[in-house]
Amino acid sequence: MSPDTIVLARTVHTLDDGHRAADPAAPVGAVAVRDGLIAAVGTAADARDWRGPGTEVIDLGDAVLVPGLVDGHSHPAFGLELATGADLSAVRDLDGLRAALARAERLDGWVLAWNLDHNAFGGHPVHRSVIEDVLGPDTPAFVRLYDGHSALATGAALRAAGITGARAFAQRATVVCDPDGTPTGHLIEHAAMDLVTAVLPRLPLDRRRDALHDLLLTMAAGGLAGAHVMDAGGDILELVRAIEDTRHLPLRLRIAPWCMPGTGAEGLRELASLQGESGRNWLVGGVKLFVDGTVEGGSAWLERPDCHGEGTAGLWLDPAEYTDVVRQLDAYGVRTATHAIGDAGVRHVLDTVAALPGHGRGRHRIEHIETLGDEQARRFARLGVPASMQPTHSAYTRADHTDAWSTRLGPERADRAWICRTLRDTGATLALGSDWPIAHHDPRGVLAYARLRRHAGTDTAPVNPGQALTPLMALEGYTTHAARAAGEPDHTGRIAPGLRADLTAFALDPLTADPDAFARSAVPLTMSNGVVTNRGGA
Ligand SMILES: [Zn+2]
Repeated sequence: MSPDTIVLARTVHTLDDGHRAADPAAPVGAVAVRDGLIAAVGTAADARDWRGPGTEVIDLGDAVLVPGLVDGHSHPAFGLELATGADLSAVRDLDGLRAALARAERLDGWVLAWNLDHNAFGGHPVHRSVIEDVLGPDTPAFVRLYDGHSALATGAALRAAGITGARAFAQRATVVCDPDGTPTGHLIEHAAMDLVTAVLPRLPLDRRRDALHDLLLTMAAGGLAGAHVMDAGGDILELVRAIEDTRHLPLRLRIAPWCMPGTGAEGLRELASLQGESGRNWLVGGVKLFVDGTVEGGSAWLERPDCHGEGTAGLWLDPAEYTDVVRQLDAYGVRTATHAIGDAGVRHVLDTVAALPGHGRGRHRIEHIETLGDEQARRFARLGVPASMQPTHSAYTRADHTDAWSTRLGPERADRAWICRTLRDTGATLALGSDWPIAHHDPRGVLAYARLRRHAGTDTAPVNPGQALTPLMALEGYTTHAARAAGEPDHTGRIAPGLRADLTAFALDPLTADPDAFARSAVPLTMSNGVVTNRGGA
């Protein structure tokens, strides 16, 4: 049985048995692929014997081959929906915001925008008056803050959604109002934002399908072979099916639908029965929960309040309800991933897992973990709870603590920002990712950032540099540890016979190249599930 494909590269980091580089006496490595699986790993000499009549040989020359990179936290379809309209990532102040909105294109009369940094308000309240000035009273506009957990709507948008005042929700979420009860336009958390997103104009399905396919190809060009998708929003199940009707899905997607407060027994049964639903290169795997919101939005659940007296509670009106839901999902054998940003939120999830039979058998992971003390950090390894972190999110803070995130928390807690290294040093599994569209999806940039604690190619002061990862720890975050965090270490994350043929090749070696240079490395090959999804791009 000859292989479909043989990939040859000067160096192969298999990450098998911890880390074993190719035998130095045999400088060229070879990997054979058949039916979407790795069939053999060896030397170029071995590969001459493997070759059959139909075998395609891809010789990558001096490139370095590693297991296919997997983004541990991404929102491709939901993100495209969030990323509809004007990208405000370059906006630094209110004048810049007003100028960007004034020239923004309209969709069915709406101004849609996203990626706005809280720091742009410069301490002013997030209030619709600052944008109604320039858009006029009758223009519906919906501006998403970069954290994805809050938005600013104009009066016309609020009217279109029927929002006239405060609302009560089954979870912590707020329609912020002026003292006279008039909504300010600031909508905090999904339940509040969803009132408006329900009436936003949408692009037709075929355009959204093609946009998702294009996005996934761009991700593959940066070296991604897969992603843990932390939502089933943006009609992603419909879109991936539509893509697979005619094409290969460029990334292996592991999709975790949300379980929000108030889901109920019937909803939990449905989430359990959705598990394992799959196509050729995707499956529904796990459920995503939130235990809190964000530091900047005042909705992270903190052990002590922030400087505005906020952050004193989680998303669930009764935290015991969260614990009960995780217990029920665990009884169904469902894996969970919980968004927990504040230290109290993380503690509550760890307490929840600690109370499960067998500590949940490694099935329950925590996303984000933005500020945390050592005592709680040590519990991750003890309880077998994988951590999933996005190092580049710390770029929204500044080393001198003058940013909105650090100001809210104060210096002591800001010094415990994104403790990637502590978690690794205490033996935890640490998957890395981007949380696209919250930060850029390019894994080269995230790998470099994890080592530098600043963006590659900049001279910005590093944020909490003692938490920098070694090159191997960073690479493991996208490979072996991503696989463990998803409970599939026997199927992916290493280059070994019988595992899924997910491969990434870089021109520069992620384990030895200077990280600033590595962030710009060419990516000669990406293969997802045995199919070449990028050849020489980026
Ligand atoms: Zn996310």
